[in-house]
Amino acid sequence: MRVLALNCGSSSVKCALLDSERRTRLLDVRVENIGRQDCRLEVDGERREAADILDLGGAVAGVLEHVRSRAAELGAPQAIAHRIVHGGAQFHQPTVLNDDVLAQIESLNSLAPLHNPPAIEAVRLAVAAYADVPHVAIFDTAWHGTLPRRAREYALPADLRERFGIRRFGFHGVSHAHVVSSVAARMHASPQELRIISCHLGNGASVAAVEYGRSVETSMGMTPLEGLVMGTRVGDIDPGVLLLLLESGMTTRELDELLNRRSGLTGLTGTNDMRRIEQGAAEGDEECRLALALYTHRIRKYIGAYAAVMGGVDAIAFTGGVGENSATVRHRCMQRLEFLGAMLDEDRNRDARATLRTPCIEISPQHSRVRSFVVCADEELEMAIETADALAAAAHGRPDARIPIAVSARHAHLSQATVEALFGAGYKLTPRTALSQPGQYAAEETVTLIGPRGRIENVRTMGPPREHDQVEISRSDEFTLGVDAPVRISGDLSNTPGITLEGPAGRVTLQSGLICARRHIHMNPQDAARLGVKDCDEVAVRIDSEGRDLIFADVSVRVAPGFSLEMHLDTDEANAAGLSSGDYGELVR
Ligand code: ADP
Repeated sequence: MRVLALNCGSSSVKCALLDSERRTRLLDVRVENIGRQDCRLEVDGERREAADILDLGGAVAGVLEHVRSRAAELGAPQAIAHRIVHGGAQFHQPTVLNDDVLAQIESLNSLAPLHNPPAIEAVRLAVAAYADVPHVAIFDTAWHGTLPRRAREYALPADLRERFGIRRFGFHGVSHAHVVSSVAARMHASPQELRIISCHLGNGASVAAVEYGRSVETSMGMTPLEGLVMGTRVGDIDPGVLLLLLESGMTTRELDELLNRRSGLTGLTGTNDMRRIEQGAAEGDEECRLALALYTHRIRKYIGAYAAVMGGVDAIAFTGGVGENSATVRHRCMQRLEFLGAMLDEDRNRDARATLRTPCIEISPQHSRVRSFVVCADEELEMAIETADALAAAAHGRPDARIPIAVSARHAHLSQATVEALFGAGYKLTPRTALSQPGQYAAEETVTLIGPRGRIENVRTMGPPREHDQVEISRSDEFTLGVDAPVRISGDLSNTPGITLEGPAGRVTLQSGLICARRHIHMNPQDAARLGVKDCDEVAVRIDSEGRDLIFADVSVRVAPGFSLEMHLDTDEANAAGLSSGDYGELVR
């Protein structure tokens, strides 16, 4: 398929027409430094007149005009791929663009203010120019959808994280994906056999730990501001510094400007051009020397940390403008990593020139246990391949079969009569956190379960009160309590055993209602139609986890309007597959 990949940044447009099957470039058009005196337009590497390009809109229009002018010779694009930096929590895969999808992307603008708005502007222009071909969004965040929960969350109270959607996403996914496939091909191995640390060092910069093909840690977080020292962004900083600046009278807008545009290399030296910084450092400029030391120290720190996260590393790779071109930066990042088994061949490092033709150059000596590479960034190729795959999947009716997973700890749904018996006459449960199914909540109140063999304290109650009491426990809990609970779907309580509950105001012995919940998926009728299942179907869900892959069979489908798509597992089931709430499974047909 001929795919036009449009990769728009705040001041650049990289555009390539590619043959996704042959993995070849048919045309390459780039505009850099948009809006500045030194604006450059290059077509297949040749400099062209760029005087009439004044802004991003003009750049995209100019680029599309070049593509159109070559259509008779090269063929017109059959699909257009758009790189979108932030896909938030909702976009996990390449997604065909329409007005609704575009509005959802627009709602994420505040999370990536430098990147999402220009990309959306470019989408609108490209859709107007090529209305009759599919436009597909490729999200930089999507590739990090495999981050385990410990790498995804910040240590903040759960209600705040939920209310503001605060979590780590990670970025540069398209570039890291390309690094991983290039390094694996060069090592004649599959990504599933390798632990790779990928360093994307451009104007923006991030490191990713890729363990056996899955991103398990990355240095950028909720926004592309966390992590490495970047061209204009600060990277990691003690949040206390931000409080101090706010308290000193700085406005949030000024702080945003400082952290995003006036910090990093620019803040340290006045330029974000690593060539000038290296030159300055070589000439003894103190600020440049500090900038270079800080920049490379931070990268080396992440490399060491990520080797620890993965329990070892097989390859370290550098890409992006700095990563591909600066032997000095690579040398300094790789210094003193011999203890990891990572060595650098200084000659290879100095001579390494990765190009689109020879995209992956080794810079480690033959006897280095950990191998190191320079990879020529080719986000456009990755975008074209992902777009062609997504459109082929859609054409063959393969929908997105990913199912979000929620893990339920033991809990009790109580009737109002039982609430009053346990907590006092007229007592009302206090909502604590909303559950994903509409109207449901976990309550502040907890009870103690008392069985013939033992007790379990602090069992969460759920609201609102139901007609019948229902207590859901895991198989492990059954042994603790000395009871035998049947595996049942919620509400199917005939011939179930009871259990004694204890609250601050008294005890209640239920005659029935104790179950081990049958694993199930909630979904609305639209999801059911899309996934080709119906209410009460039994399906299987495949889990791809860190070393505990598993297929769950006997999963009941529960369909009702208003249900949110979610698979519910108990803690035993989740532990067996190494899962946490927020992970994903895949429906198996
Ligand atoms: P972007 O993230 O905007 O795509 P690039 O990947 O093009 O950025 O990287 C831009 C950075 O690469 C700039 O800091 C530039 O100074 C640096 N760079 C380009 N060429 C060299 C070079 N030969 N030596 C050192 N740094 C370089």
